[in-house]
Amino acid sequence: QVKVVGAGLSPSDIACTTDYMISLKNFNKVLDVDSKKHTITVEAGVTIEELNNSILPANGLSFSNLGSVSGQSIGGIIGTGSHGTGGNFGSFASCVLQLVLMKADGTILQCSKEENEELFSAACCHLGLLGIILNVKLQCEPAFNLHEIKRQSKLESVLVNLNDYISSSQHFLFHWFPHTDNVVTVQRNRTKVIAVPQKESWFKDMFIGYHMIQFCLWIATFIPSITPFLTSIFFKICYSGFSESIERSDKVFNINCLFKQYVTEWAVPKQNAVLVLRKMYKWLSDHPSVKVHFPVEVRFVQKDNIMMSPSCDQDVVYIGIISYRPYGKFVPHAEWFTFFEDLMLRFGGRPHWAKDHKVKSAQFQKLYSNYHKFLSIRQQLDPDNLFLNAYWKRILD
Ligand SMILES: Cc1cc2nc3c(=O)[nH]c(=O)nc-3n(C[C@H](O)[C@H](O)[C@H](O)COP(=O)(O)OP(=O)(O)OC[C@H]3O[C@@H](n4cnc5c(N)ncnc54)[C@H](O)[C@@H]3O)c2cc1C
Repeated sequence: QVKVVGAGLSPSDIACTTDYMISLKNFNKVLDVDSKKHTITVEAGVTIEELNNSILPANGLSFSNLGSVSGQSIGGIIGTGSHGTGGNFGSFASCVLQLVLMKADGTILQCSKEENEELFSAACCHLGLLGIILNVKLQCEPAFNLHEIKRQSKLESVLVNLNDYISSSQHFLFHWFPHTDNVVTVQRNRTKVIAVPQKESWFKDMFIGYHMIQFCLWIATFIPSITPFLTSIFFKICYSGFSESIERSDKVFNINCLFKQYVTEWAVPKQNAVLVLRKMYKWLSDHPSVKVHFPVEVRFVQKDNIMMSPSCDQDVVYIGIISYRPYGKFVPHAEWFTFFEDLMLRFGGRPHWAKDHKVKSAQFQKLYSNYHKFLSIRQQLDPDNLFLNAYWKRILD
């Protein structure tokens, strides 16, 4: 079922020629469901969405936490340290109980916290470098609905009360609208109340929330100075004072990500959250010629002990910035992204593995205490560098 493009070449031929792709699209069976222990075991090509739409609700289960989308495969979401938000919730890979991995030579290894613990800690954020993740056992929880409340607020008011916000709801995040001090806070908590499916408004969600914004951002590519004005206007139109909803958990965690965009997102030690956000605010005030897109997304993740996870050994705040590409058009954003990346590095930040960054091997050595251990595990599993992908070659330079 594993389709190897370029099959027929030896591992060393493949490694020294070019990158090859293995598709696990059809490697998506559910192997086991344990309704009592709330676990599922799946083949790693299955997507979160496939599980959310069928096997989880059918068995009264939910994932405890999810990010903005569910299109990721299980192999992909854990391999990149992907995350949702919640001060008491780790990255998605924190719910992995056991993994089965195929090495480059075809040998199959099993690992968990109890068996091959070091390999398990490496494989839970594998970066595509260790081999093929075949099967994954995941801890879920009984299905639940989430009560979501969105409120307008001000940046400084949120920063001053940040710890209260984080601890007063299970899944807290906020969006800051740069060039302004406007913020939308999002608080999500489990509820026993029955879901009330949201009335969808094509006019608000698609016409204004997508087409109008895209058109205005495209106009702003000719007149960048109107960007702050657009940010204020769309904040007022799209995020009026207060809204709430109760829905099945995955429908609340996930949002419509419609825009083509460049994104960089970094995990900074949680205690630095207020300082770096204030510095971002000040930098924009001090550089009025730089115009940037909204929102800046701020999420919180509990520490784990996964070797290459950006939240390894430290509670973090994830801060994400964005530059849209209206109708595919490139919008210059280097100054903002470079400032942001430098700031994050200065305050102990680690970049999200699936998003834009320019960090190289020497810096990662400082950021991850297990960096060399991870690379040596990699070398043992894949001595011919079959899985050394283009992304990692760039990092190693
Ligand atoms: C619209 C959008 C919204 C997003 N929102 C969030 C968010 O809210 N939070 C967040 O943290 N991230 C987010 N991301 C990032 C996303 O979670 C990652 O890009 C994720 O890796 C995508 O999953 P994928 O299955 O497409 O992985 P891929 O891109 O296919 O794979 C990622 C890496 O894992 C490797 N890999 C995949 N499967 C296997 C396997 N079975 N065995 C070995 N290696 C494997 C690949 O080779 C690659 O190196 C978002 C991305 C997008 C596009």
